[in-house]
Amino acid sequence: MKLDAPLKAGEVALVGAGPGAASLLTLAAARLIADCDIIVHDALVSDEVLAMAAVSTEMIPAGKRGGRASANQSDICEMLVALAQAGKRVVRLKGGDPFVFGRGGEEVKALATGGIRFRIIPGITAGVAAPAMAGIPVTDRSVNATLAFLTGHEASDKSRMDWQALVKAFPVLVFYMGAKNLSAICHSLLQAGLDGKTPVAIIHAATTDDEKTTVGSIQAASDGYLQAQSPAIVIIGDVVASRTIWRDK
Ligand code: SAH
Repeated sequence: MKLDAPLKAGEVALVGAGPGAASLLTLAAARLIADCDIIVHDALVSDEVLAMAAVSTEMIPAGKRGGRASANQSDICEMLVALAQAGKRVVRLKGGDPFVFGRGGEEVKALATGGIRFRIIPGITAGVAAPAMAGIPVTDRSVNATLAFLTGHEASDKSRMDWQALVKAFPVLVFYMGAKNLSAICHSLLQAGLDGKTPVAIIHAATTDDEKTTVGSIQAASDGYLQAQSPAIVIIGDVVASRTIWRDK
């Protein structure tokens, strides 16, 4: 099956919308967004991407922002199944990649269980796009042979993270949803033995007009001197020092 073939009636496409800039959509994403009956989208999907929908397309906002639930996950799954059963051609649009901290797996399971025809279109994930916009290589062969993507959402819950094991195994840590817990995250890393001088970069709203990058040390971040505003990617490790600024305003 061609990924960018027109949707059939009753079919759902789970589509990654990328980090924000419409120019970073895949061709399949752009084609399906422009030609469907209904778009069910997350709060993080940019206006620029949503504007690519046809005027006749029904737009349904669903998903969470900053911990505030605007729709329950099982309600979203049920809605997708019901829309498909009604014969609609549905695009389920999620920020970044649908399977990276995006609950795409749960939605796909619901569609498969419901006997719905579906396809999956990957997107550029923020954990890769945001560092690139800031000129930070997520791997640098002089720094790291491993790379960890983590959620900072549960970082304050000590039971969910083995900080010492993390620091030992991964020279570079990329946190999604890390803005709120930034100082707690950096405090935990310091306690786990990471050098206080280790650089951290906070990249807010990458690829949008609001993009902003802040750089400091994990000691400064732990002490509360670095500000982070959601949505932001927090990248910690010596690759931040390998930064080449290429698109400052
Ligand atoms: N599925 C998404 C991630 C969803 S979790 C993806 O693959 O990118 C939501 C988190 O993604 C935010 O809290 C933030 O950490 C990150 N994020 C998404 N878009 C972003 C952007 N444009 N700039 C910086 N961070 C972003």
